[in-house]
Amino acid sequence: MRKRKLIILYLTITLILGVQLTTAAATKPLAGKKFVVDAGHGGWDPGAVGVNGLTEKQINLRVAQSLRNCLIEYGGATVVMTRVDDRYISLQSRVAKANTSKAERFISIHHNGSVNPAHNGTSVYSATHARPQSRDLRDKVQKNLLKMTKLRDLGANSANFYVLRHTTMPAILTEASFITNPQEEKKLRNPEYLWREAYYIYRGIVEHMGD
Ligand SMILES: [Zn+2]
Repeated sequence: MRKRKLIILYLTITLILGVQLTTAAATKPLAGKKFVVDAGHGGWDPGAVGVNGLTEKQINLRVAQSLRNCLIEYGGATVVMTRVDDRYISLQSRVAKANTSKAERFISIHHNGSVNPAHNGTSVYSATHARPQSRDLRDKVQKNLLKMTKLRDLGANSANFYVLRHTTMPAILTEASFITNPQEEKKLRNPEYLWREAYYIYRGIVEHMGD
């Protein structure tokens, strides 16, 4: 008798938890959507390098991994990464992987560089002649990133970067700040700062996909 009660109690708890988990999954804003997250550079290609030695490839990967976690955990989305460690992946391979993934959106993570160490600011790119969806995603990610970086608004721009031109889905490329600015380089060494950058990119994506 006691055993039966325990079984009923167990089943009830399982049922309640099950319903709650199902409800939680259904309310996630990006459930059923697939994204490609592209960490720029890697391997022998460091990208831009800070005066104190921080490399763009390192922080791009950190932000990309945090963005993947946000998209999966908060958004309920599926994510394809073009690289998950420090290795060189050609632009052609990145695009090929993205295009075969049949993902809804492509987000490439970069940080800017300049010969002028004083230069800093936030910008997001879509391809020249990009579809309205790319431009909308670009504008919303730019708006959200600016709230986080509080840097100069260098604008939501168009450029014919290879990964933007050859991907078949709406695509953007983020340049949240300049690694070549020494104050910014210091900030970019903080994993929490990089996580926040990813989170605000995520917020821009959610805002875009919700429309
Ligand atoms: Zn770059």
